[in-house]
Amino acid sequence: MRTVRSTILGYCQGVRETVSKASECLELARKKGLPAYSIGNLIHNPDVIRTFAEKGLKEIKDPSGGERGVALIRAHGIPDKLRQEFTDAGFELLDSTCTVILHTQSIIRKESGKRVIAVIGVRGHAETKCLAGTMTTDGREIESVSISSEEDIEAMFGRYGKDTALCVVTQTTFPPELYRLFRDRISAYYNNVLFANGLCGACTQRTRIAVELLEKNGSAVVIGGRQSENTANLAKALKACGKPVVLIENRDNLDENMLRLLFENQDVVVCSGTSTPDYIIDSVVEKLEQYKVENYNSGL
Ligand code: SF4
Repeated sequence: MRTVRSTILGYCQGVRETVSKASECLELARKKGLPAYSIGNLIHNPDVIRTFAEKGLKEIKDPSGGERGVALIRAHGIPDKLRQEFTDAGFELLDSTCTVILHTQSIIRKESGKRVIAVIGVRGHAETKCLAGTMTTDGREIESVSISSEEDIEAMFGRYGKDTALCVVTQTTFPPELYRLFRDRISAYYNNVLFANGLCGACTQRTRIAVELLEKNGSAVVIGGRQSENTANLAKALKACGKPVVLIENRDNLDENMLRLLFENQDVVVCSGTSTPDYIIDSVVEKLEQYKVENYNSGL
């Protein structure tokens, strides 16, 4: 009986950058005697948000939410108009928008005016809003079509004919199987489509490795925030293997029933979403190991 850690665990590069910039934001604000803010939830992890909140990082949604200060743009990015509003209101911005998302925004800017822009993404998700709110470098709004369902695709077909030149971009953590379904429907209808597949390669690789491990082992525990799209996608891909999978945010969520279920199937794969810090993963592994020693020490 083993606890098998996935080879890709913990923060992705984008989240690591955001967490590092959050410390910078606090330090800069302290030096300037100003309040420090995160625009929206810092990352999808309540423990980390609490830790930074205790150090003074407040959440803000728009400039009217607090007095002028230093504000951090998290990995999801923000719409360009909102960025401008913060700057106009005198906020100093630190930007940790993930490079994958910045790249997608550069494609939107490049193709706008030449093609109709379609943004595939979860409705209301911060990153979808960021992509749909991309403006030209000289500050003009770029019109785009938002697609989060098959009905939205139907509506686009009604509005733009088959010969429309289209550029389709995607929220990085959109469910991959839904993305493929949408892509196939769109490419079957339009004659001239440029797909800029913005799905995050780091997430795809993380999921692939976790699925391969689960196929060779008994069960899996996924550690990640309940609001996290990539964690939900990871858990869904693992559940499709037909083996027991439990989803938790931290060691306190890992109860007796879950532990029994996991270890009934012997080797347990440990994997995580991209916003889960190493110390939470280590504490979960420690609990798993402790349970194993206390309950199965002699047999396996
Ligand atoms: S999940 Fe991918 S796109 Fe999102 S922040 Fe991490 S590296 Fe960037």
